[in-house]
Amino acid sequence: MVRAEQVHKSFGPLEVLKGIDLEVRAGEVCCLLGPSGSGKSTFLRCINHLEKINAGRIWVDGDLIGYRERGGKLHELRDKEVAAQRQAIGMVFQRFNLFPHMTALANVMEAPLRVRKPKAKPEEPKEQPQEPAEPVQASKKQARKAKDEVRERALALLARVGLADKVNNYPGQLSGGQQQRVAIARALAMQPKLMLFDEPTSALDPELVGEVLEVMKDLARDGMTMIVVTHEIGFAREVGDHLVFMDGGVVVEQGNPREVIANPRHDRTKAFLAKVL
Ligand code: ATP
Ligand code: MG
Repeated sequence: MVRAEQVHKSFGPLEVLKGIDLEVRAGEVCCLLGPSGSGKSTFLRCINHLEKINAGRIWVDGDLIGYRERGGKLHELRDKEVAAQRQAIGMVFQRFNLFPHMTALANVMEAPLRVRKPKAKPEEPKEQPQEPAEPVQASKKQARKAKDEVRERALALLARVGLADKVNNYPGQLSGGQQQRVAIARALAMQPKLMLFDEPTSALDPELVGEVLEVMKDLARDGMTMIVVTHEIGFAREVGDHLVFMDGGVVVEQGNPREVIANPRHDRTKAFLAKVL
């Protein structure tokens, strides 16, 4: 489902990713661990092309991310094509990033509604398909039906993350754990093939961590492919199919989470685990 080959990324003179190789199969949960500054977030951001890589390749579900390969050369995709690739990849951040002026339900409905109604860009009017004019009544009805469907799915997703009774609350009226569960429902609303989590519980009070991890476990059980940056060793051990330990922009060690955690081979992994365990 995800394959990264020799991914390099620098910010100016700072080389943050120094040749990352990674493979995650469909339905697997890959946990990414490593000290602060090792490049974990940068790597996740490269997977959905929020950061452009300097060398290497990343595929998600067979799609080369950000580029098209022609005659051995890489050509960057257009914004529209990148946006289409991103739709297949849900992302949840440490901070919940909800729209504060929208209810939980509106937050979850926002992306599917926006995609259904792309705003016409003035500079490329021809990109809009010219559909034959339909009777106004019928198209209004269709729009309403489409919106009802989005709403039904959003309600189902909020129920799935345990928030059926909070759908009309604004983010400010929700606890951190509840907000993060809304953020997960929002990411799921686009029916992604892959979910990326960047330390989804590290901004939460300790008593709220469990409820978010439960939602993630449930997703994993349902077969979602996930890459999770986390310091929750218990989660990695219990839910992870694969553990990758990064340090200094390279993969130092990887393998079965239970084995790596019980018997780390490299000194850097040992030192890191000794601190977080
Ligand atoms: P943490 O555990 O603290 O979240 P991390 O492993 O996620 O750390 P990154 O956020 O990927 O680390 O950062 C890796 C390095 O890249 C750091 O030295 C950081 O300062 C640098 N970096 C990240 N983003 C940028 C940027 N946009 N411009 C310049 N440097 C950056
Ligand atoms: Mg980070």
